[in-house]
Amino acid sequence: MKNWQHSIELLSPAGSFEKMLFAFEYGADAVYAGAKSFSLREGAANFSLEELAKAVDIAHSRGKKFYLTSNVFFHNSHLKQFKDFLKELVPIPIDGLIVSDLGAITYIREKYPQIPIHVSTQANTTNSEAVRFYEKLGVFRIVLARELTLEEIKVIRDATSLELETFIHGAMCISYSGRCLLSNYFTNLSLYKKGEKIGNMKRLKTRDANLGDCAQSCRWEYYLVEATRKNDFIPIVEEDFGTAILSSKDLNLSAHIKELIDAGVNSFKIEGRMKSAYYAGNVSRVYRYAIDCALANQAPDLERLDELNKISHREYTTGFYLGENQALAAPKTNQYLRDYIFLGYVLEVLDKNSALVQAMNQIKPGSELEIVMPGFQDFVLKNYQLFKEEQAAQIIQPNEQFVLKWDGPEELVKYAILRRKI
Ligand code: SF4
Repeated sequence: MKNWQHSIELLSPAGSFEKMLFAFEYGADAVYAGAKSFSLREGAANFSLEELAKAVDIAHSRGKKFYLTSNVFFHNSHLKQFKDFLKELVPIPIDGLIVSDLGAITYIREKYPQIPIHVSTQANTTNSEAVRFYEKLGVFRIVLARELTLEEIKVIRDATSLELETFIHGAMCISYSGRCLLSNYFTNLSLYKKGEKIGNMKRLKTRDANLGDCAQSCRWEYYLVEATRKNDFIPIVEEDFGTAILSSKDLNLSAHIKELIDAGVNSFKIEGRMKSAYYAGNVSRVYRYAIDCALANQAPDLERLDELNKISHREYTTGFYLGENQALAAPKTNQYLRDYIFLGYVLEVLDKNSALVQAMNQIKPGSELEIVMPGFQDFVLKNYQLFKEEQAAQIIQPNEQFVLKWDGPEELVKYAILRRKI
């Protein structure tokens, strides 16, 4: 075994405190999350400094790691706030700070050498010389660009002993390493309607992907408009539904983990800080399983990998890793594929036949209730009843808490997930 294989890790997204707990419960070794600013996911709940300190503490008490993202591209106007933020951050023992901006990396290295720096995928590191450059700067880990093939990763691995991380699952940007101006451009243009200017607030509502506020403009529906017929929106029909020419498929490398380990990857990263706790849990357990199989030299059970089709996703691709030219070909629909509804999760097991549940969507008695468990101990719960304030309930609304009671030997655990097929 080569030395870097000792630190193979499953790294899951933690868009919130709750999602972090799901990721850990379902097998992640580490999570990454944003603070309230600078994290490229302004729309996620993210962590205040107090929450961050608590989250890092919980992660460490479980033997897990916590990485913080600060990977926006800083303008001079952000620097003072960022430097102030670092002063407050430094007492919190995060395991790594994910940064893409060269100025920010240099500043952190000089001022806070104790903070391990992970170079973000946004820095699009694609060759061994770039890795050597970052190595000289004293960084700890490189999150490689998603545009690399397995062969290229092997060449980089042979040139460095730094930790290497790659994305293995989740949404991808159509643009190079996520460096994208579509959102910035189109959110400015949204002040125009049918070609006519309808406001003077240009720039105020601009959403810049490189500052963490992407409007996902690549997933919007587009028409063709001829310059002299501004009211004539001509549909572009690529498939029955319309078109997704600017949109990318989602990455899924669950069947290729062994090749990635052999290529020299240490850390396997799942995208999706804006996704649900169900996503954080279920995707983490699939990749936990896939990594464990790869390390034990066993082929994974495809039925377990198929759980990735039971979360909301776009059509899947293996991206650039296998050298396919069609890696980013547009998906057949710009909608999410969604076969299951996340109904809720167990907050507390009350006794062997009842549990307190947090509802995420509407639940009615009689629906087929699938229980998703860490380690794939799943089952269908048949004989159950729903209770609110000790009264049998005919309907549970989203965000309500209720008591689930069942007859039979089935055992639920805290964070067990309830779902049903659509
Ligand atoms: S608009 Fe699309 S391609 Fe551009 S940054 Fe946002 S998600 Fe990525």
